Amino acid sequence: MKADYYETLGVGKGADEKELKSAFRKLAMQFHPDKNPGDANAEHKFKEIGEAYETLKDPQKRAAYDRFGHAAFENGGMGGGGFGGGGSGGFADIFEDIFGEMMGGGRQRRSGGRERGADLRYNMEITLEEAYAGKTAQIHVPTSITCDECSGSGAKPGTQPVTCGTCGGSGRVRAAQGFFSIERTCPTCHGRGQIIKDPCSKCSGQGRITEERALSVNIPAGIEDGTRIRLTGEGEAGLRGGPSGDLYIFLSLKPHEFFQRDGADLYCKVPISMTTAALGGQFEVATLDGTQTRVKIPEGTQNAKQFRLKGKGMPVLRQPAMGDLYIQIAIETPQNLNKKQRELLEEFERVSSQDNSPQSTGFFSRMKDFFEGLSE
Ligand SMILES: [Zn+2]
Ligand SMILES: [Zn+2]
Repeated sequence: MKADYYETLGVGKGADEKELKSAFRKLAMQFHPDKNPGDANAEHKFKEIGEAYETLKDPQKRAAYDRFGHAAFENGGMGGGGFGGGGSGGFADIFEDIFGEMMGGGRQRRSGGRERGADLRYNMEITLEEAYAGKTAQIHVPTSITCDECSGSGAKPGTQPVTCGTCGGSGRVRAAQGFFSIERTCPTCHGRGQIIKDPCSKCSGQGRITEERALSVNIPAGIEDGTRIRLTGEGEAGLRGGPSGDLYIFLSLKPHEFFQRDGADLYCKVPISMTTAALGGQFEVATLDGTQTRVKIPEGTQNAKQFRLKGKGMPVLRQPAMGDLYIQIAIETPQNLNKKQRELLEEFERVSSQDNSPQSTGFFSRMKDFFEGLSE
């Protein structure tokens, strides 16, 4: 069982960016392996802190975590995979971002400043009918892609990024401070080790440009509300030739006017008149496969009675199976009676016997007896 990310950092669910960063800093300093050599517990704790912070500092990942918990990042299931981790992104990088200047030393720098692109989230709402049939959805994703002019290098075509003169390409510079020699990120190249003398004019040296891309996404039949689909490598382009992030599609289902869904089963409440319930009758319901199904109501049908229409529910995801449709009867008591109707019902009441309403006949006297029995 994985610890809650907020608890791991010792912050509340509403913690802002500043609180997160300061909690992370404090804990990471405390459990840093350099300070606890050979202490496996500290090392484990240190990793947990890093993972928690990496997730919560990113608004997209945080939203996913708040909604789905750790399941949002676990492998398997729909789409599989998790956020981060791929390419040069991940924990080593955030540690470097925050601690690079404080702790100094030892860590491997990203070569040439390549960075993995961000993961993107796209919210899609579909109807129950679309979830029933499955569909291919066309979506437009504003995203940054690798600049075609410079192939992502950020340097003007025909030129190359050059080694940074300040740090000699290491991305770090040393400075003496008291007794200590401290290593800092190079201020000239910001740790990249290279500088671009002639930036590409199309992307201003970023190596990527913003564009709206059209993607077609396959939504399988039977998909559930809250499903996320991962499109690997369809997220934001990496920086200076780094790998692309992933695109996550979060699906939600619009409420349906007639059907409620529970897994593969559907429920439909059908109001019928008191006389139909008493005398019996029939009606037709439209089902999601586009056909009509006749439902026969036997005489004496009670309120809330359910009728099952086998195989008329939702398809089961990736299986050749169908759920059922349950028709729930809701008996409507007549209102706004006219004189004639009232007389007929009063006449009906007079000629009724216990057999007509076995549930209600004598109910209150039975209940009274029950309570009197308790007090004796
Ligand atoms: Zn370019
Ligand atoms: Zn430099």
